[in-house]
Amino acid sequence: MEDKEFNLHDVVEMKKQHPCGTNAWKIIRMGADIRIKCEGCGHSVMIPRNEFSKKMKKILVKNES
Ligand SMILES: [Zn+2]
Repeated sequence: MEDKEFNLHDVVEMKKQHPCGTNAWKIIRMGADIRIKCEGCGHSVMIPRNEFSKKMKKILVKNES
């Protein structure tokens, strides 16, 4: 099974890294749009859910709670 099940506060890797050089993003809001925050510089972006699914490579850290 492909591990593309993501949840709030998971840290994910995207297909493209952020220009700051970090490729770890924390999911800080879930809805029709997903808001993710770069773990390196704190920059956050909003992406439509379907686009996020396509651009997300893998989950780095699962939110355990
Ligand atoms: Zn960044």
